[in-house]
This record gives sequence, C-alpha cells and structure tokens, in this order.
Amino acid sequence: MLRLLTLCMCLSLLSGTPANAAEPVPIVASFSILGDLVHQIGGDRVSVDTLVGPEEDAHVFDPAPRDAARLAAAKLVVINGLGFEGWIDRLIKASGGAPRLVIASVGISSHRALIDGREILDPHAWQDVSNVRIYARNIADALISIDSEGGNVYRANLARFDAYLAALDDEIHAAISAIPSERRKIVTTHDAFGYFALAYGVEMIAPQGVSTEAEASAKDVARIIRQVKSEKIPAVFLENISDPRLAAQIAAESGARIGGKLYSDALSKENAPAGTYIAMMKANIRELTKALMP
Ligand SMILES: [Zn+2]
Repeated sequence: MLRLLTLCMCLSLLSGTPANAAEPVPIVASFSILGDLVHQIGGDRVSVDTLVGPEEDAHVFDPAPRDAARLAAAKLVVINGLGFEGWIDRLIKASGGAPRLVIASVGISSHRALIDGREILDPHAWQDVSNVRIYARNIADALISIDSEGGNVYRANLARFDAYLAALDDEIHAAISAIPSERRKIVTTHDAFGYFALAYGVEMIAPQGVSTEAEASAKDVARIIRQVKSEKIPAVFLENISDPRLAAQIAAESGARIGGKLYSDALSKENAPAGTYIAMMKANIRELTKALMP
C-alpha cells in the first residue's frame, strides 16, 4: 500500500501536476477577450466560464438568474472595470456572495472620450496591447493568490504570453507606420478604438459613443458624413458586435468604401479568424492595412 502511494506521488511529481489536477480552478470572466487572457495564463489549471461570449456585446448584456449561479460557483471573477460591466454589481448581489473580484485593467492609464461635451471613461483599454500586458500580469497575480501551488505554471505562462504580446505590439506599430500618415483615419460604428488610436496613431471617428447602449443621433451621423467627405477618410469599418446598417449608410452617403470588419469588444467564434486576443488584433491589422494602403 505504502509502495503504491509512493509510486502515485512520484508519478504526480514527474508529470508536474498536483494530485487534484482533475479539478481545475473555476474562474468566471466577464467577456470573451478576458476569457482568452485567463485561459492563456491559467492553462489546464483553470476552467474558464465566460459570461458574454464571442460575437456578443457586453455593453447591453442583461444577466439572467443562471448567470448569478455561474458567479456563485467561481473562485475568482475577472472583469475589465473602467465601467465596462455596468451590470456586475447587480449580478454579484444576485449571486448571494462576495466573490473574489479581479479588475484586470488596474494600473493602466485610462483614457476619457469626449461625448457631447462630457468626458466619459473609455473602457476599451484592451485595444492597446501594452495595456493587455498589464491585464495579463494582474490575472497571473490573482491566480497565484488563490492557487499558490500553480505559481510556477502561471509565471511561466505569463512570461511566454507576455513575449507574444510584446511582439504583437511591435507588429502593430510597424503595420500602421507603413500606411501613409494622411490615410491613417477611419470611421467605426461605436467609439471602441480610442486606446488603439492613441497607441498606434490612427484617427478613429465614430457616430456612436463609447457604449453601444445609446443610439447615434441623426446630427452626429450627418456631421461624420461631412467629415468623411472633407477629410477624404478612405474607409468605413463594420464591427463584429454592431449593427452594420449605420456604417453602410455612412459609406453610401459619403462615398467612402466599406473597409471590412473590425473586432472591437468580442472575439469571433473559435473556428473564425479572431478566436483569441492575439488573433483578433492581427485580424484587425490585416483589415486596416488592406483598406488603407494606397
Ligand atoms: Zn464597446
């Protein structure tokens, strides 16, 4: 019996996984992009349950009672913060507990968008890769705090993922630098690319504010159509989470062309081109390059 026990311990040491490896740590992530980040850092040691899935819009998510149960089952709940998950307090209350909450964006320098003369906190910080390097570190720290045995695994995954992110950041800078500066401007549906614009030097104009909750006004749409014409903005982009009709209208009335589809607030399904955060940013760069290169 003792020999069997020793053998088991040796096997578990050899494979580098704990004896209870069959039970991954249950984590809830608020939306698909964060779900991927948690998966990249947590690997097999965690199981990730994502509340707002691929191709879905977190701005207008309306939690159901079953979502409260999903939260109650989690050891850790990872959210973006910066006002992105306006429904999270309600959901935590409904879950009947006080889950360990991790705000992935802590430590980034936040950007405010000017909407109708008012400054509004812009939640889309993941559109700047240097911010996501901070997100990844915050997620790793949180995982280590609840599963210290996995510390070496989480640290190794973070180091590997961070190197990919650093290379991705360089790749985006290089791709945008290759586009002539007078052509680095586009229209999107909602104002999701403020951090991208600041980090990489592309002008991004949107008729709708930093949330998809409020509709664009006819006045804003008319202003943008005028701006597209006067500044010769080359392309209007669709977004994976927004109704394509507004972008189509702006393109038709301004003479700009539809540049393709950008992933703003959600990944694509796994078998599509933006199934992970890194794939999503690369897909966006391909679309921007295709539409903006002369
Ligand atoms: Zn958004």
